[in-house]
Amino acid sequence: MKQNREPTFRESVDLMFNRAVSAMDLPPGLEEKIRVCNATYTVRFGVRLRGGIQTFTGYRSVHSEHMEPVKGGIRFALAVTQDEVEALAALMTYKCALVEAPFGGSKGGLCIDPREYEEHELERITRRFAYELAKRDLINPSQNVPAPDMGTGEREMAWIADQYRRMNTTDINAYACVTGKPIHSGGIHGRVEATGRGVQYALQEFFRHPEDVATANLAGSLEGKRIVVQGLGNVGYHAAKFLSEEDGARITAIVERDGAIVDDNGLDVEAVRNWIGTHGGVEGYADGTYVPDGGSVLEKECDILIPAALEGVITTSNADRLNARLIIEAANGPVTAGADEILRQKGVVIIPDLYANAGGVTVSYFEWVKNLSHIRFGRMQRRQEEARHRLLVNELERLDRYLGDSWTMTPTFKDRYLKGADELELVRSGLDDTMRIAYQSMREVWHGRDDISDLRTAAYLVAIQRVALSYREKGL
Ligand code: GLU
Repeated sequence: MKQNREPTFRESVDLMFNRAVSAMDLPPGLEEKIRVCNATYTVRFGVRLRGGIQTFTGYRSVHSEHMEPVKGGIRFALAVTQDEVEALAALMTYKCALVEAPFGGSKGGLCIDPREYEEHELERITRRFAYELAKRDLINPSQNVPAPDMGTGEREMAWIADQYRRMNTTDINAYACVTGKPIHSGGIHGRVEATGRGVQYALQEFFRHPEDVATANLAGSLEGKRIVVQGLGNVGYHAAKFLSEEDGARITAIVERDGAIVDDNGLDVEAVRNWIGTHGGVEGYADGTYVPDGGSVLEKECDILIPAALEGVITTSNADRLNARLIIEAANGPVTAGADEILRQKGVVIIPDLYANAGGVTVSYFEWVKNLSHIRFGRMQRRQEEARHRLLVNELERLDRYLGDSWTMTPTFKDRYLKGADELELVRSGLDDTMRIAYQSMREVWHGRDDISDLRTAAYLVAIQRVALSYREKGL
């Protein structure tokens, strides 16, 4: 159906949800219970800055508490709105269900342009926001666990963790109140790269299935594939770097805020990232052609398009003009519901956000478990072989007991653990296993049901089924 206006982000997520629900047989009323956002807290607080008081507006939305804690990042951006935060919280619910991370969905946002502030100012603002959320249990190791998102990173998570610890000095699990922390503040190796790494593992898994590859009118492996990336932030950068350096793909264009840089022979991702770091944009980068109109480069012919920036960048106005065969949504919600329909009709395959960018929350789960169990993940020091093995078996059993049913502790993970793999290796193998298993579950629905013709609907269906099951088992 042609819409006369583009739906909001929130409406888009609901439309996609409804599409999956119409192919399901849920008990009356349960569909609405799952779809709606449970609560959104809005806070306005003042911070003394530059000789005056500045007032900031922030949100923390809890979409579904079918599992606790609820999980999801905190975004710092001027464009943050309640609608956006609620849409992102809903996506967190479905994302966690799809990759079997035992969390409900939540998301937070602060209306701020972080580039406008000095580091010490940002620290005060972040700590105050964290204080406001923590005192209402919207930051809490057992109830609500934030993480980085657009505009935030390890530094902000360290401030949040420290703020929570100051407010809860006797809580031995305080570090587990937030994930994405630096290593020395209870973080885990491989979290920074995790979302981009997850995008790489998702594509590797897709290319392991020649029939799936053929549905996108592609063939062969990732080797030599032409990729256009939009956004060279944390997610886009890592995805592009790993795909070009490890899988032999060619990054033929990078679209950024100030325009795009194009080179059909393949760009050096590291060099472009460094250029942006020192010059604030891609303009002037010498090893490629600069195109001021970045939007037009999104329409450039390529094999794979990776939108890794904002939501709502592929809409009913440009979907028709795209020339990609496969789109992998590294960002949350980059394709609107209207655009999704146009692309489906054109036969473009979309690997949906709730699967494609789930690497971040998956590794967040490992970090949270590491903080709560107070057990190191893997070890590097050499001990006597036998004693070391016994120790690892013990640890693994404790970890297994501790995690119970919720843990997808696969044979590969156990094997690596017992071999004494280090933390980064364990994190990567756990993430790889998770992305493979989640893909299989979507794929079964995609290929197994005549009424499901796209991966997004399949992903939503699997996720909604799992949330519904948990409501049925536990009650509302
Ligand atoms: N902000 C990330 C996301 O959208 C990570 C969330 C998390 O690790 O909790 O998935």
